[in-house]
Amino acid sequence: MATALIIGAGGVGRVVAHKCVMNNHVFDRIILASRSIGRCEEIKSELPSGAIEITTVDADNTDEVIALIKQYNPSILINVALPYQDLTIMDACIATKTPYLDTANYEHPDTAKFEYKEQWAKDSAFKEAGIMGLLGSGFDPGATNMFCAYAQKHYFDEIHTIDILDCNAGDHGYAFATNFNPEINLREVSAKGRYWENGKWIETEPMKIMQVWDYPEVGPKDSYLLYHEEMESLVKHIKGLKRIRFFMTFGQSYLTHMKCLENVGMLGIKEVEHKGMKIIPMEFLKTLLPDPASLGPRTKGKTNIGIVAEGLKEGKKRKVYIYQVKDHEECYAEVKSQGVSYTTGVPAVISAKLMVQGIWSGQGVFNMEQLDPDPFMEEMNTQGLPWKIIEMEC
Ligand code: NDP
Repeated sequence: MATALIIGAGGVGRVVAHKCVMNNHVFDRIILASRSIGRCEEIKSELPSGAIEITTVDADNTDEVIALIKQYNPSILINVALPYQDLTIMDACIATKTPYLDTANYEHPDTAKFEYKEQWAKDSAFKEAGIMGLLGSGFDPGATNMFCAYAQKHYFDEIHTIDILDCNAGDHGYAFATNFNPEINLREVSAKGRYWENGKWIETEPMKIMQVWDYPEVGPKDSYLLYHEEMESLVKHIKGLKRIRFFMTFGQSYLTHMKCLENVGMLGIKEVEHKGMKIIPMEFLKTLLPDPASLGPRTKGKTNIGIVAEGLKEGKKRKVYIYQVKDHEECYAEVKSQGVSYTTGVPAVISAKLMVQGIWSGQGVFNMEQLDPDPFMEEMNTQGLPWKIIEMEC
């Protein structure tokens, strides 16, 4: 039996807490810690009495996280706070020899740029501490890395191209809102696009490349090329890869609002002075926008996230599409969250389960595709994220 310490009580934290409770044959003690107690209390009230314990922590402060870990002595720490806290939490795990898992790579609050460099640099410290650190175990990154590893293991000798396709066809009824933390979401989608081809990164203007993709169970949607973090690790770990791209769907209303906010400076992450006060426009915007956690009861429609891989098997060309479709209302009925938080939180719990059961083991810092995809893919089918695979014409 295992103790899970969850840090972060946002949309994803709620799903992780609910799902850990549903897996209480594995996690017999569950602690949810976050910056403010209000969200933790709300989540606790949704669960059976005594199912979880709650407390506060400022995860920007390594010593506070170390003290928290020493208090509960967890078998695993599941970090679903914000990407800004990844390094401080990883340091606390190294100091206390506690296995670590997150869903998003480190970002510095002052630079809208995400890369694995600083987390990979902790590999030797994780090895010395004799613990495993698993990076990016949400859906994308996370399940998408597993889809690639699964394709590599069972369907190809060499994969030449991968397109990761992320479609959220949910409708929350607001003119503009983000499905996860607005600051993180808007930093990601307003950044320049980037994809990898023949050993080089190619940069594009934001939202410059669009293709229409016909998503099973959803239909055709405009899909825009973005940079996304899992590509950085996949180019290292997928054999024979020549090109990898990432596409995400956006509706016209979202794009028009975003462009307008950007044009007037509301996506800025540098301080500006307003009536003698220093404010960061993006943080102020976050205050104005609907809380992603409040979208749960209003969101209808489906998500469809997957990968299309093309390459060679026994000398012949092959192309496969692996994808997962999830209904927002079904997610809300199960765990009181919309589909984006659900599809992120469930993979985090699956990985935590595989780690504490020793099905996945290792010392150092890992990306998902470095681990055996089979047990993860099996768990997806039973934990609420059933997936499909189809052969396509080359
Ligand atoms: P939210 O903003 O809803 O929640 C973040 C939570 O972290 C809040 O409860 C917040 O506390 C807490 N928090 C923030 N700072 C600190 C701190 N210093 N110490 C302790 N707690 C803190 O975000 P989401 O739940 O939507 O996202 C969680 C993570 O999941 C993010 O890293 C996001 O990037 C990632 N993600 C990954 C995806 C994937 O597929 N891989 C997809 C979607 C999200 P408070 O309540 O006080 O604000």
